[in-house]
Amino acid sequence: MVSVSNGDCRICGVKLGKTAMKNHVLKKHADEANGEVCGLFKIEGAYNKNYWLLVDVAIDKPLSVLDSFLRQIWLECCEHLSAFRVGNSEIEKNRKISSLPIGAIFTHEYDFGSTTELLITIVAGVRRPKQRDAVRLLARNTPPVRTCVKCGASATQICTECMYDSENPFFCDACCEEHNEIHECALPAVNSPRMGVCGYDGEHDVWDI
Ligand SMILES: [Zn+2]
Ligand SMILES: [Zn+2]
Ligand SMILES: [Zn+2]
Ligand SMILES: [Zn+2]
Repeated sequence: MVSVSNGDCRICGVKLGKTAMKNHVLKKHADEANGEVCGLFKIEGAYNKNYWLLVDVAIDKPLSVLDSFLRQIWLECCEHLSAFRVGNSEIEKNRKISSLPIGAIFTHEYDFGSTTELLITIVAGVRRPKQRDAVRLLARNTPPVRTCVKCGASATQICTECMYDSENPFFCDACCEEHNEIHECALPAVNSPRMGVCGYDGEHDVWDI
């Protein structure tokens, strides 16, 4: 798979790798005098860390705001259940961000059938200009470049049958239509660790670029 671990800063546009981006955000975008106190969160696909986000979340908000945000940007297909966990114990969604220690590492599971699991780290305490949204996207992995396995054109679809046993399960629209005769189960090729799962099509992802 093509490496997609580089990302884009959503504040100033700089492109950097994951760790360099974290340092960039801390140095350039996390120290607003008298700003709103937030936690800086790193969020990664548990089984594909090339999908990653950096967000800040106001500490007076509950964890549920992060659940809603993750559903929008990466997860929601048909309103499955979800949970935050440390090890096997669930963290209630009404827990305030302020009650979680810096350095905490926990998981988020969406859909207890075809589960998408995320790994979440609270990286630091930060300050940002006051704003309406509880969760602000600071940086995100650059959309992966995918080419059609048949013709090499830019791919738009993933075959959800081929994705488990083919090196390249991606197709352009035209080749996907032909491939329908073999496997009739394509979904949009999107920038999310839930790509190809259940009916996920990325329709709520307004941060897509
Ligand atoms: Zn920046
Ligand atoms: Zn679903
Ligand atoms: Zn094609
Ligand atoms: Zn297929």
